[in-house]
This record gives sequence, structure tokens and C-alpha cells, in this order.
Amino acid sequence: MQSRYNYLQGKKKKKWPYIVSGTIAGIFIGVIVVWVGMNDWNIDKSIEELRNLTEVKQTVEVGKTGESIVEKPIVEEPVQEIPVKEVPVVEEVDMSGANGYIGHEILPEEPTVKEDIVIASKKYPLPSTYAPGESKEARAAFQEMTAEATLSGYELVAFSTYRSFDYQTQLYDRYVTNDGQEAADRYSARPGYSEHQTGLAFDIGEQHFEQHFARESFGETEAGKWVAANAHRYGFIMRYPNGAEKITGYMYEPWHFRYVGEELALKVYEANVTLEEFLDL
Ligand SMILES: [Zn+2]
Repeated sequence: MQSRYNYLQGKKKKKWPYIVSGTIAGIFIGVIVVWVGMNDWNIDKSIEELRNLTEVKQTVEVGKTGESIVEKPIVEEPVQEIPVKEVPVVEEVDMSGANGYIGHEILPEEPTVKEDIVIASKKYPLPSTYAPGESKEARAAFQEMTAEATLSGYELVAFSTYRSFDYQTQLYDRYVTNDGQEAADRYSARPGYSEHQTGLAFDIGEQHFEQHFARESFGETEAGKWVAANAHRYGFIMRYPNGAEKITGYMYEPWHFRYVGEELALKVYEANVTLEEFLDL
């Protein structure tokens, strides 16, 4: 007959596999819970992250076999190689980021036109082939404005108007080289995204005051204030007003005016909104 001690021992022996497997299961569940927690309690994200982790591991292994990863620099995907998984179009784009571009770096075949207005923005780029040259109508309107400004003692000049796709490419590349892409995106448009390519954007300054050219300080000058208050009467609107970077994608540019025609310019001016808001872009 088994003693009570041996009986208990026997029972203990039978119990330990359950304890071990229970502990393992516990740890396993714990790891899953922590992992999901690390991924904002999002199951899909957790699985995706886990997959990414596995992919990284594979890349490292490829590197180990002698195929150098260093020799494969990260290059922007060429336009013709459209990834299978389409990036969804984000309806509300937060333009506050250093870039504000949607991410579709493919330029369209035709420009976007809304209410007879050609749109050029970070959301609506132009075709690289779009090359209308400087608008004669806009130039004539600017001359009229200049003539009236002279009567008030301001000698206005347009120091930059139409820019071709190729010229914008040169400019942007130079800015990126000098300041880096993040900074360049805040003050310069990528090729295809510049309003200057429409031939309807005029960068306005005052003759002999080049120190205020393309500077916020132009808005503080008497000439700058005059343009801000009167440009709409000639069909121009200040395209990137102060505090609207989230909407327009650009910092305050008191020198950059866009010709939209007298009728619309007056409406936009009176509504005191950006073109984006007015046309619901
Ligand atoms: Zn400009």
C-alpha cells in the first residue's frame, strides 16, 4: 500500500507538466498582449508590424550571404513602377507638415481647372508639359496696378513670374542641395507643383528694395501694404496669406500674387479666405 507521502509525490509528478505548459501559454499570451499593446491595440497593425519584422530579418540574412545592402541605395521609385498596393487618397491633407504633398508623385496629363481657374498646388500638380508662358492678361493687369502704385509713390516690380517646368526643377534641386528637402518644401514648390508654371503668379516687390524681395518683411513695408490692400482691384490675390500654411501648404508669402481676374479676386478678398477655401479645393 502506498504511503500518504508517496501518494502526494505521485500526484505532484503528474501536475508539473500542466504547470509548465500553463506557464508557457501564459508567457505566450502575455507577449501577444504586449505586442498588440505596443501597436496601439490594433490587431491589423500588430500583424503588419510582425510581418515587417520578419522582412527585416530576411534582408539582414541576404546581407549576410554577401549581397551587399550598401550597394543598393534607396532610390525613389520610377514613375512607371506603380506599386500594386495603391496608397489611399487622404481627403483631409494636413499641410502643416514640412511637405504637405499627398504622396502621389505622378504628374497628371491635364491641369486641374475649377471655375475657369487653373489650379497649381501641392494637392493639384500640373503636367510637366504644361507651358503656357506668362499670361498677357495678367501682365496687362499688373502694368495697370504698377501705374496706379506710382501715383502713391511706390515703384512696383515683378521679380519672378512664369517659370517653366525645367527651370523650377533647377531651382528646387538647388534649394534641396543648400537647405535639405524638408526646408525647401516649405518655401519652394517641387517641379510641377509651382503656381509660377501657370504663368499667372507674380512675385511682387519694390524697385530698389531688393532686401525685401521674397521676404516676409515685404508685408511690413508701405509698398507691401499697398499691394495687399489693392491687388484684388486688378485681379490679383495674395495666394499664401499669414497663418494659412496648413491650408495652402506654404508659409506666409506677402510677395506672391496670383491673377484670377477682377471678379473672383474681389470675392476672395472680401471673403478674406484662401483660394483653397473659396473654391473648396
Ligand atoms: Zn512666387
